Amino acid sequence: MKQVLKPPPAQGEWITWTDGGRLSVPDNPIIGLIEGDGVGPDIWAAAQPVFDAAVERASGGKRRIHWWELPAGEKASDRFGRHLPDETLDAVRKAVVVIKGPLTTPVGGGHRSLNVTLRQELDLYACVRPVKYVPGTPSPVKRPEDVDMVIFRENTEDLYAGIEWKSGADEAHRVLGFLRDHMNIVLDEASGLGVKPMSPRATKRLVRRAIRFAMEADRKKVTLVHKGNIMKFTEGAFRDWGYELAREEFPETVIFEDELSSRYSGAIPEGKILMNDRIADAMFQQVLLRPKEYEVLAMPNLNGDYLSDALAAQVGGLGMAPGANMGDACAIFEATHGSAPKYAGLDKINPGSMLLSGAMMLEHIGWKAEADLIVRGITAAIQARTVTYDLARLMPEAREVSCSGFGRAVIEHLGSA
Ligand code: NAD
Repeated sequence: MKQVLKPPPAQGEWITWTDGGRLSVPDNPIIGLIEGDGVGPDIWAAAQPVFDAAVERASGGKRRIHWWELPAGEKASDRFGRHLPDETLDAVRKAVVVIKGPLTTPVGGGHRSLNVTLRQELDLYACVRPVKYVPGTPSPVKRPEDVDMVIFRENTEDLYAGIEWKSGADEAHRVLGFLRDHMNIVLDEASGLGVKPMSPRATKRLVRRAIRFAMEADRKKVTLVHKGNIMKFTEGAFRDWGYELAREEFPETVIFEDELSSRYSGAIPEGKILMNDRIADAMFQQVLLRPKEYEVLAMPNLNGDYLSDALAAQVGGLGMAPGANMGDACAIFEATHGSAPKYAGLDKINPGSMLLSGAMMLEHIGWKAEADLIVRGITAAIQARTVTYDLARLMPEAREVSCSGFGRAVIEHLGSA
């Protein structure tokens, strides 16, 4: 039988959790790597030398990451007959911190989304997307530098739970019959149906994580984004449970919008965090018109999906948007775009999303100087107008470079960064 996993790198040590729930990170950590499908190998080939160079430079050679390649996706299916071997899931749990490229999901059939499976199997309940402008990146808005937000999107519930029945299917008829006979709700017999579950448990752990992040990152505002005016018992409840959690668990830290003027004369006092809420449609306007007023956003799955891509567009598109899926036991950092199959193997795509996700990962393990160096290197490369095709076509006088060429440009700029 084929050995699915390569042995973990012998020189590396494991990242572990302390009893106090903090990460304990050695100077030579083993970090899991899922290369991904399509352009995954291209962006990884460009990004890994950047990560290694930044770590070496920022730590003066004291630190080094030992990458442990884990099989998933098309390569795993070809070699082991499984897209997502159980061994890979166990290895992610063991490694605690993993970085991954995009994984292809066939449309209208084939295997289930591996990304959704990873999130569910590993209970990665928070999709975290920082959205911040890298100076020099072409953007469709006038002041992209005003955007500096971190989105916490609930990852396990809502219409994404996958509970739906096709129009005309026996199950759909049974549910329609139940609604008609027991709830007095008469719907078109040919309706397709979906269920939108949202629970206090999943909502509260997401909002807890958003508040804790705000406290640690010295952010002053957490905004709950919901459509509770229409969907009262799901999205409206999300808002209510969010406020409830803040009152129950953070009474010393969190203050609310109604108190802001009555008790604090309009200014958030030092050491406090303001929690407010906005209706999702209004929020799409707010992020365009008054982006400076928002810092940390917590929201249900569907709102989060839409708003994170819209916000990414404001700062230069998905090629520059980092992200992570996080649980209480492990976290997977990932390029937020897909596997872009038509560019696979062409060494052309923008590795920016992978690079920024890596910087986010280094910050997560407490290697802030290393993370900052990568962001400064990317900024310097973009300001020197050395960019991949997607940005080059929007920038006058840009010098277009390949995917790996952009990685090399970032490394060159680490010195001056
Ligand atoms: P995609 O993001 O792969 O690509 C769509 C287009 O966006 C590309 O053709 C390209 O023009 C542009 N693009 C994407 N990333 C870019 C980058 N880094 N630099 C420059 N341009 C970039 O979206 P898709 O075509 O809808 O999806 C392809 C596959 O990826 C599907 O199987 C989908 O399920 C999967 N997917 C995976 C993830 C993930 O693993 N997290 C996320 C989204 C989509």
